[in-house]
Amino acid sequence: MRPPICVICHNDFRASANEGGLVKFKTTDKEKKYNQRMKNEKITGHPSGLEWFCGEHYALAKTYQHLAKAEAIIVLKS
Ligand SMILES: [Zn+2]
Repeated sequence: MRPPICVICHNDFRASANEGGLVKFKTTDKEKKYNQRMKNEKITGHPSGLEWFCGEHYALAKTYQHLAKAEAIIVLKS
């Protein structure tokens, strides 16, 4: 798992992690395969489809959970 750094504004909110949170997006087939492989091989890492958002972007990001992560990030950054 990566430290809490907002994927939109790159704000490192480790000191106040309660302000933001992890958002789980729709996983693509490729991401599902990756997550399954990590699980099977007991690899610890950052699961695909999950991303950190600071307090400022968390609520907005949650409204795009139905999208795949890459699509949601494009929309959120625009
Ligand atoms: Zn942010």
